Amino acid sequence: MTDPRSGDAWEPTAHDDRSSGSGMTRRSFIRGGALLAGAATAGAFGAGGILGAPPAQASPGVTAGLPPFVPGTKLEPDQMRISFMGTSFLPRIAQQCNSVFVELGNNDSFVFDFGSGVSSKYVAMGVTYSRMRRVFLTHLHGDHMSDLITLYCFGPSMDRKTPLHIYGPSGDSPDEGTRAFCKDLYKLTKWHREAFSFLQTGLKGHGDGYDIVPHQLPYMRTAVAYQANGVTITHFPAIHDRDGSISYKLEWNGLSMVFSGDTKPSDYMLKNARGVDVLIHEMVVPATVWATKNSGLHPGDEGYAEAVKIAKTVQESSHTPEQALGYILKKTHPRLGVGTHFQANDDTIGPAYEAVRTWYDGPFAIAVDGLVVTLSRNEIRSAYADLDQYAWYPKPKMYPPKALKPPKYDGPLAQLNKVLLRHVIPEKDYTIPG
Ligand SMILES: [Zn+2]
Ligand SMILES: [Zn+2]
Repeated sequence: MTDPRSGDAWEPTAHDDRSSGSGMTRRSFIRGGALLAGAATAGAFGAGGILGAPPAQASPGVTAGLPPFVPGTKLEPDQMRISFMGTSFLPRIAQQCNSVFVELGNNDSFVFDFGSGVSSKYVAMGVTYSRMRRVFLTHLHGDHMSDLITLYCFGPSMDRKTPLHIYGPSGDSPDEGTRAFCKDLYKLTKWHREAFSFLQTGLKGHGDGYDIVPHQLPYMRTAVAYQANGVTITHFPAIHDRDGSISYKLEWNGLSMVFSGDTKPSDYMLKNARGVDVLIHEMVVPATVWATKNSGLHPGDEGYAEAVKIAKTVQESSHTPEQALGYILKKTHPRLGVGTHFQANDDTIGPAYEAVRTWYDGPFAIAVDGLVVTLSRNEIRSAYADLDQYAWYPKPKMYPPKALKPPKYDGPLAQLNKVLLRHVIPEKDYTIPG
């Protein structure tokens, strides 16, 4: 077999269970099957959602390949649900840039990173803006924060009538940290904020939906970022490209999850993720694959060697190879490991599983958008959401009119000058009676 990662089609190997039985095409594994392997028996995965895995190791309590997750499904009081809204560093239809949404049985919810394109995934998953009040940024790369403009701008005109809380790392200088980022976000969105302020955007006694409250976290420390209502979120250093990246750990009701954000393999992770229930960790395809996929160049083409060199430089400064993730999973031993920030193609998934499996044979999934992991102390279930491609906003939280502050501007035309208003075609001119 030629190197499956050189851009040629991935061929099944002896380890590859896809060739047996189910009759599904490879593509259908990505669309409908759970990209999850190594748990319980093959039968537990329904329509053959095991990819590139050696014979499964018994690991009771993890179930994948379930019927599609229906957005809005009620969470039990003892459950945590982790929904993958964006799972890539490059924007693609099936995998937008990074974001993970965590919901708890106590009704709390938390957003981790908010890369480009994920707003539409939150809408399709039926998540209202009022449930996206707390955003935890791992770092300030564009693929982790660029949809915040949408989240910030449209929240207050829908049902987020209280300030947006943005948690994130410090930098080596004040103008690089999360506090400065929030100030700049506020500044650059002035026109939108004012324009929409003919609506009621604030709750009396609770600030305004257009306020931003930054929570800057010292990036070199391991410390508590958030603690309330039985939930503790800690942060610890990540090693990524430039000083000022962090990872997060969320703990509640005896359940825990770690989200790496972007990082090179690090012993901070080994220390903080040991024994966690769900470890969500980035991983990257090998530099040769990255170069070929991102440039269209193949071995022997002019510029190929340079493309590989650039890919290597990027990866060595910033990311975790597939095999290294296997090593990290072996050392931390989560109930479920999830690889993300990874481009799931027919010819990348199999090799990634094989690389991870050189170290680790426990339950492991590769995330694409719409993967939903629901866990309790006894069980972890994973399924893909049935997302409506044409979804509208879900039903917002309703407030009694008296609870809302009056709008800043008096009516929808209050911000238009008299000349513009004189040029409006009156409704009676285009309305046909009857
Ligand atoms: Zn990234
Ligand atoms: Zn990054």
